[in-house]
Amino acid sequence: MRSLALAFDVGGTSVRGAVVGAADVVMAESRVSTRTGPAVLDDIARMGEELLAGLSPAARAEVAGAGVAFPGLVDTEAGISRRAVNLGLVDTLVAAPLAERLGLPVTVVHDTAAAAAAIWADAGSPASAFVAVLGTGVAGVTYVEGRAVLGVSGQAGEIGHLVVDPAGPRCGCGLRGCVEAYAGGRAMLERYASTGDTTVSGVADLVARTGHDRLAAQIWSEAVTALADGFLAVGALLAPGEIILGGGVAEAGRDLLDPLRTRMDERAGVTAVPPVRLSTLGGRAGLVGAARLALEAVRTNP
Ligand SMILES: [Zn+2]
Repeated sequence: MRSLALAFDVGGTSVRGAVVGAADVVMAESRVSTRTGPAVLDDIARMGEELLAGLSPAARAEVAGAGVAFPGLVDTEAGISRRAVNLGLVDTLVAAPLAERLGLPVTVVHDTAAAAAAIWADAGSPASAFVAVLGTGVAGVTYVEGRAVLGVSGQAGEIGHLVVDPAGPRCGCGLRGCVEAYAGGRAMLERYASTGDTTVSGVADLVARTGHDRLAAQIWSEAVTALADGFLAVGALLAPGEIILGGGVAEAGRDLLDPLRTRMDERAGVTAVPPVRLSTLGGRAGLVGAARLALEAVRTNP
């Protein structure tokens, strides 16, 4: 059984590509800035060709397929991006043209689903958990009795647009004070940049400044509060056994976990506070998940 997969994670700011091996080991990785429209497919194909070219012939022969984690609405069965607003794509064939270019079977998966599946498996597949995927956006998937609960819409657990402050900042969705308007990676950087200072290079940089920069500290603190309120709502509705944090923003580690736990305790009222822990996968969760799902697709449909 061939054991390697190409994996791509198409995000709002960058497209990441990697060769992922057994035990979720990321062997080679690359990244380009996200271009919108059909150009993004060309970028994925080129990145895939380069990653394959960098492998030894023996390793190349081990690549079973490719997985592409896509934002928005995804039709995995048909390999189509139904709607990816930030990428400017509607009803766009993704799997077929990429399969043609790469000479491999291609599986298209929803980015949150892929990341959550990887985080959950990496955490030991707990029977009851809420897996939060914290990146450009804020999303999550609930696991009950060892299975993902996606609901009628397929989007159950997407807490990013839960309003936690009706008078808060405008969110990309049009509402005010969504969890994502405070805690989304892009929203945090935009809030900082709106003061005219565009020197913050990313969420890690923002977090690193919180010790000496009042604005960075305030933005981070408000992000933590929004997440705390969002997770308490999850706790009230579902009382999961635990909350597991993954995605790029979770790479803040204890700078996120410690204040988040405190804030949840402070604001819980009578709601039971679920234990919260960090995933080890961080921002690679989408890549690892896309690879896992690609290998699974090849196994079940050889
Ligand atoms: Zn929103």
